Amino acid sequence: MRWEIEDTPEQAAFRADFRAWLAGALPAGWMEALEAGEDAGFERAKAEGGFNPFSWQATIGASPYAAPLWPAEYGGLGGESWTAQVIRAELQRYRLPTISINLLGVGLAGPTLIEHGSEAQKERYLRKILTGEEIWCQLFSEPGSGSDLASLSTRAVRDGDEWVVSGQKVWTTIAQFATFGMLLARTDPDVPKHEGLSYFVLDMRSPGVEVRPLMQMTGSSEFNEVFLTDVRVPHANLVGAVGDGWRCARTTLMNERTTLAGVSIDPVSIMGGVRRDPWASFLEAVPDRTDPRVRQRLAQFYIESEVKEITGFRAASARRQGAQPGPEGAVNKVFNAEYNKRRSAFAVDVNGPAGVAWLPDDTAAAARAQTFLRARANTIEGGTSEVLRNQMAERILGLPRDAEVDRGRAWAETSRN
Ligand SMILES: Cc1cc2nc3c(=O)[nH]c(=O)nc-3n(C[C@H](O)[C@H](O)[C@H](O)COP(=O)(O)OP(=O)(O)OC[C@H]3O[C@@H](n4cnc5c(N)ncnc54)[C@H](O)[C@@H]3O)c2cc1C
Repeated sequence: MRWEIEDTPEQAAFRADFRAWLAGALPAGWMEALEAGEDAGFERAKAEGGFNPFSWQATIGASPYAAPLWPAEYGGLGGESWTAQVIRAELQRYRLPTISINLLGVGLAGPTLIEHGSEAQKERYLRKILTGEEIWCQLFSEPGSGSDLASLSTRAVRDGDEWVVSGQKVWTTIAQFATFGMLLARTDPDVPKHEGLSYFVLDMRSPGVEVRPLMQMTGSSEFNEVFLTDVRVPHANLVGAVGDGWRCARTTLMNERTTLAGVSIDPVSIMGGVRRDPWASFLEAVPDRTDPRVRQRLAQFYIESEVKEITGFRAASARRQGAQPGPEGAVNKVFNAEYNKRRSAFAVDVNGPAGVAWLPDDTAAAARAQTFLRARANTIEGGTSEVLRNQMAERILGLPRDAEVDRGRAWAETSRN
């Protein structure tokens, strides 16, 4: 990392403690090989130690380091925000996954349950989120409700000690592997849209839950359609109060922005894999770096990549000194998403015909094309660039709010697509 924040003595001591814990948790020779710059030794230690992202999640999840900001009583460290930064930097240094295999559980469901869940719910779910024993998905978006999430139509109707849920969700990342889902459903259609929602924990193995993976143009199936037909959900699975779903969902969404800000989600990282240095992989994809026109473009990409890093650095160092997260999250999310799209398109372009057709064993060409195709999703997932620009316009520039035609009207009386 080129932009280093100098540690205070307290931070240096914490870093040393975490490194000592890593030394005990990782296969023999792993850290030594990386410190000596011996890639072959590192690969050997990894293979001999039988390392995989799932066993790693179980190991780190049983320690307090998987959730540095969660309270200690729920398996976290109860630390300040700088502890998360130090842990992340050390994980990167030792080529360990910085994204949990249970990204949505650790990043979104856990913080929501900690803030709004009952003690019984916290006791039941939180530790298994950290160890990756129970994978979580987010059942928010629907075919007719994405950016305008509060307009959603999935209905939950009370029946004694249970709720009966029917509707359809879409875009549900890793639902095909999930044990539980964070479900947002409409419990009262006769009040304005934000007021009639409730938040539930849905057991994905319940009768009436049908998960259909969607094939993406990359060839993988990260997300799914989820059909819910008369699914019975115990009242005990309600998070917060009836009608309080939007408040709970905002906690999830706020955590989603922080979890995804600056993270380049792709099939490798979402399954807990370790990505190589993206700049080095990008350069390798450019065959002729002597052409002056190519060099100009490379210089421009490099400058932008530095600007991105410095913005991230500025936000990180402000947080290290106790400041609240500022608008950099939204700014960086928009910039990063569009930068990824432009850069991956350039890498395909500059390879000419080889950018679009390759021999079956050319894994580098296949990866280049996959990166290009997957980057299309970056400006949509975790809030679209247009919607984030609206937020920046309102909150940073102080421009008038976006039009809200259904304000104050009962959801049942509003027009929907
Ligand atoms: C890879 C990926 C993974 C995802 N995973 C999940 C998941 O696990 N769970 C989940 O619930 N959802 C998930 N989503 C859904 C995601 O949150 C939505 O796609 C997103 O909120 C946009 O909603 P939409 O697709 O319905 O588009 P729409 O909201 O219909 O938007 C269509 C277009 O209109 C624009 N637009 C909409 N409103 C405005 C406005 N007010 N001003 C200007 N322009 C506007 C949008 O920017 C977009 O270009 C995922 C999406 C992707 C791409």
